[in-house]
Amino acid sequence: MENFDVIVVGAGTGGSIAATFAAQKGLKVCLIDGKERSKIGDKICGDGVGSEIFDYLKINHPKNEELSCHIKGVKLYAPNLQKCIEMIDPKQAGYVVNRLEFGQRLLNESLDAGVSKFLDKTMALELLYQNGFVNGLRVKMSNGEKTELKAKIVIDASGFYSPLRKQVQSPLIEKEIPKSDSILCYREIVNFPQKDQMVKDPDYITIILDQKRAPGGYLWYFPKNEYAVNIGLGLFMDYKGRVKEYYQKNAFNEFITSKNFKLESSGGGVVPVRRSIWSCVDNGLIIIGDAACHVNPLHGGGIDPSMRAGYHAALSAFDALKAEDTSASKLWDFNYKIMTSFGADYASLDLLRIVLQVLTNDELNFGLSKDLLTSEEILEIAETGLIKLSLVNMVKKAISGISNPKLLLDLNYLRIRMNEISQHYRKFPREISKFEEWRQKTLQIYEKLDKMVIQPRKTPKTEKSVLNG
Ligand SMILES: Cc1cc2nc3c(=O)[nH]c(=O)nc-3n(C[C@H](O)[C@H](O)[C@H](O)COP(=O)(O)OP(=O)(O)OC[C@H]3O[C@@H](n4cnc5c(N)ncnc54)[C@H](O)[C@@H]3O)c2cc1C
Repeated sequence: MENFDVIVVGAGTGGSIAATFAAQKGLKVCLIDGKERSKIGDKICGDGVGSEIFDYLKINHPKNEELSCHIKGVKLYAPNLQKCIEMIDPKQAGYVVNRLEFGQRLLNESLDAGVSKFLDKTMALELLYQNGFVNGLRVKMSNGEKTELKAKIVIDASGFYSPLRKQVQSPLIEKEIPKSDSILCYREIVNFPQKDQMVKDPDYITIILDQKRAPGGYLWYFPKNEYAVNIGLGLFMDYKGRVKEYYQKNAFNEFITSKNFKLESSGGGVVPVRRSIWSCVDNGLIIIGDAACHVNPLHGGGIDPSMRAGYHAALSAFDALKAEDTSASKLWDFNYKIMTSFGADYASLDLLRIVLQVLTNDELNFGLSKDLLTSEEILEIAETGLIKLSLVNMVKKAISGISNPKLLLDLNYLRIRMNEISQHYRKFPREISKFEEWRQKTLQIYEKLDKMVIQPRKTPKTEKSVLNG
């Protein structure tokens, strides 16, 4: 039986990047995916990705058949559509990609980088443990045969439904992601072959917040080119079974006026929208991407963080193998890198997401129209997870928000908690022994927000429904 340094499970955006950088470091890498090779990358997605990650990893930006269009920025609309916040920032600029072509490129780059074995149509079934260390996988091969693959480290990049995370022995890794921390999405790519409808704002991706039309999520309208668009919506998981109906009524019927449209692709999926799982490592194991909830909780973008996590996983695996120590303590360095970088931003954005999900349309209309959050502040939050407010700005907000003091106070309380959690994550412990203390403090920050902002909003609704029988 062949032994590998690293097996990467899943050749999506996270797994392909992990395999590329591990192979570039000279490791003997096996990359497996349940899909057949020609379908890798074909994922139901909004297809939007910022340009920053390509510079960060020093890899080619999307071009040619991979690139659907360039994006200058984001237009965020209030539910009543009367207020639009335009966010233009070099870091928010980016691309809408052809997901299949983009995925194929990342896969090909990993094979060119020297991946020793690529197995498509191969499903990971089970983690193999020996003496408390992961040392391989049980897989089902393309011919239906079940076999074992051995490696010193497994990188799980198998996406939201990871079967492997559920089998991990470490108690520091959450096996299940609560429904309240995920969003159910549905999207279609619609073409106008007769060019009788043009795409609105082809340089921007458009996001509409609306608790009635897209409860818990948002509606999106992402251009593919002048005559094709990716439209969709995200909803609370409780809307399972109704997502298509909501999409048809609130997205498709709203955005598509042409009778001569052609559906290029349709489908749904689930995105985790929360902080990273507590720990992404066990002995001989690193978990990345959707499988580890490495997704921006505010907008559900997971391409960039999965690639970032893939890169860091490869480097941490290399360091561990060089030191001949694949223990969770040695791989902890991966947790440290994630939690003190985008992990800190996403924990902060998770608090914002939780509050946004309980605001009413009236509050969203009010907050956005009165500039309680400006485009600069949203960009700053998106980039750093922090909201720094000068005294002048605070006073300005207090004056414009005076007719809704409760909302004003809640947003200020949220701002304080966001800054607190962001700074707390940046002090993520370097040793496992200090982790529990850190975790308890994180939970306390969530509880504070829950008690002050979430519960007071949720309680009246619950009481009303109880009273109404
Ligand atoms: C509707 C929708 C819209 C989205 N829009 C955007 C967007 O516009 N921008 C953005 O940045 N993000 C978006 N996302 C999120 C983004 O798609 C994911 O966060 C990102 O693809 C995660 O990458 P990943 O590598 O972790 O997982 P995935 O891309 O899901 O890849 C996982 C891979 O693992 C393989 N696999 C799964 N199980 C096994 C197994 N047992 N054995 C072997 N292989 C396995 C799969 O075949 C797949 O190839 C969207 C998601 C959805 C659902």
